[in-house]
Amino acid sequence: MSLTYSSYQEFHRASIEQRDAFWAEQARLIDWHKPYEQVCDYSQPPFAKWFAGGQTNLCHNAVDRHLANRPDQNALIFVSTETNTEKTYSFRELHAEVQRMAAILQAQGVAKGDRVLIYMPMIAEACFAMLACVRIGAIHSVVFGGFASHSLATRIDDAQPKVIVSADAGMRGGKVVPYKHLLDEAISLSSHKPAAVLMVNRGLADFAKVEGRDIDYASERERHLNAQVPCEWVDSTHPSYILYTSGTTGKPKGVQRDTAGYAVALAASMKHIYLGEPGETYFSTSDIGWVVGHSYIIYGPLINGMATIMYEGLPIRPDAGIWWSLVEKYKVSVMFSAPTAARVLKKQDPAYLTKYDLSSLKALFLAGEPLDEPTATWMADAIQKPIIDNYWQTETGWPIMAICNGVEKAPTKFGSPGKAVYGYDIKLIDEATGEEITEPNKKGVIAVEGPLPPGCLQTIWGDDARFVKTYWSSIHNRVMYSTFDWGVRDADGYFYILGRTDDVINVAGHRLGTREIEESISSHPNVAEVAVVGVADQLKGQVAVAFAVLKDPAKAATTEQAKAHEAEIMKVVDDQLGAVARPAMVKFVNVLPKTRSGKLLRRAIQAVCEGRDPGDLTTMEDPAALQQVKELVATK
Ligand code: AMP
Repeated sequence: MSLTYSSYQEFHRASIEQRDAFWAEQARLIDWHKPYEQVCDYSQPPFAKWFAGGQTNLCHNAVDRHLANRPDQNALIFVSTETNTEKTYSFRELHAEVQRMAAILQAQGVAKGDRVLIYMPMIAEACFAMLACVRIGAIHSVVFGGFASHSLATRIDDAQPKVIVSADAGMRGGKVVPYKHLLDEAISLSSHKPAAVLMVNRGLADFAKVEGRDIDYASERERHLNAQVPCEWVDSTHPSYILYTSGTTGKPKGVQRDTAGYAVALAASMKHIYLGEPGETYFSTSDIGWVVGHSYIIYGPLINGMATIMYEGLPIRPDAGIWWSLVEKYKVSVMFSAPTAARVLKKQDPAYLTKYDLSSLKALFLAGEPLDEPTATWMADAIQKPIIDNYWQTETGWPIMAICNGVEKAPTKFGSPGKAVYGYDIKLIDEATGEEITEPNKKGVIAVEGPLPPGCLQTIWGDDARFVKTYWSSIHNRVMYSTFDWGVRDADGYFYILGRTDDVINVAGHRLGTREIEESISSHPNVAEVAVVGVADQLKGQVAVAFAVLKDPAKAATTEQAKAHEAEIMKVVDDQLGAVARPAMVKFVNVLPKTRSGKLLRRAIQAVCEGRDPGDLTTMEDPAALQQVKELVATK
């Protein structure tokens, strides 16, 4: 029997108050091998076991089940404006490619529960590899191609992959970005060594083959051309993947996702939030290295029987019309991007955006960082389509706040990512008292009552204690999930996000931990101490700015020496973490602003960098320290 709802408010209420009946209804959107016995087993909070007792498979839901109704319809559309390649795969062809990849992995001994690390550019083989893993019950861990050897080594040691799938190179803005030497270096740095490295050779960059370890994808594929690899039915709670994300410590957290809850959450989100219909085309401009890439390049659209576009390239190359030409060509109905991309386009002639027929497009969704009003307005004017902000995190895998137009049409409000999404019992909490804030427009920490809805992280890979301590113990006197974001809610239930409560920063929609960057900078031989803060930036939302105390300041005494030192430090970050984490500026100070008890005053540094009042500084050890920061920023 279906539940009926007369409004979104009722729909949301049912998702909390009649949780099991609500999610049982959503669970019908996917295929099950074995029905579940319990919708939500929350007997060991905060660990939620969604659809306990059931069995299913993500790859079956994304690929195999569509073979009956839409075998020849596009499933994957790969477009690279870097290599001028365009190739489409129907569901039937995708099915064949995924089975080949699965057979290659099995031949290397990969079995259910084993980890496979994927360090690849945006190419079709990366999609095959992800789907192949979940097909055989292996757990993938995709590492963003922009990360360098040190970041990669940390992830190799944590996930302990049996096999790594990689490629010779990616390309960006016409430049080849080689991957293999970074991977080799990462493996030499890590304690764990993978048994095999499967290399997709695009012919972009020469690389040295490690005998006995490296295998060639093209020849392996030939050997497994007719492979038939059935889906491994796994328990609902079987981990599908690990995706690392930054936190307040230098050690990234492996967000662990389940299988059934994730499939149900994504299928439901396509219906209620994104309004994508089977047979249509979805275009998310993210990267498979990020959560949006997992949920809305690969799994969400495919589970929903949609074609998905995988795009390698920039939004403005060969010109700013490129994305919009794809919308016309593939009749894209749903598009998903990040505010930074919109800000990049905003610098271009809007005529590029309207040169093409966008009539298939229903809406453009933006997420990952705050969407400023001028950008949203410019974009809406340029494409004459609804611009819909939505707020979520790597941890949740799908939106926490959005406008659920599939349930009830509602207006957007600029600056707001919308209302609480069904399944999320969001509360604003007073940081000092732990009390819930119920009056409108009052700032609090955005928290969620357990259990988190299906699709959200199960735990931190290999570290249940860290999961509990990090996410469920930071709200004063309460066991609630903390998003680590500040927010306010207006009288209509719309939220506004006011920034992180921790030391995580967001550069062009990429989440970075300032601790990680600080640790990397500290490895420079002349750095004694460093503070990294996120500073508002017109284009990227935020950029990282570093203030370092040098062991021997004489080495950076002249402007030229300081410049050279800054470049050296930036190179350290590039080599260890990747250019994505490179600070925009490194400034040298005599002393860092700290409290008398030795705590770094990051918020005060940030405020000064942004020209704001640094607030109460009575606990500050040496007021001259902040003055020096102020002067350095003024002379940038
Ligand atoms: P990530 O895990 O990389 O997706 O980063 C999640 C963080 O990005 C959130 O905790 C927010 O700080 C920020 N974020 C994501 N989406 C939005 C949005 N729509 N508006 C404002 N901030 C956002």
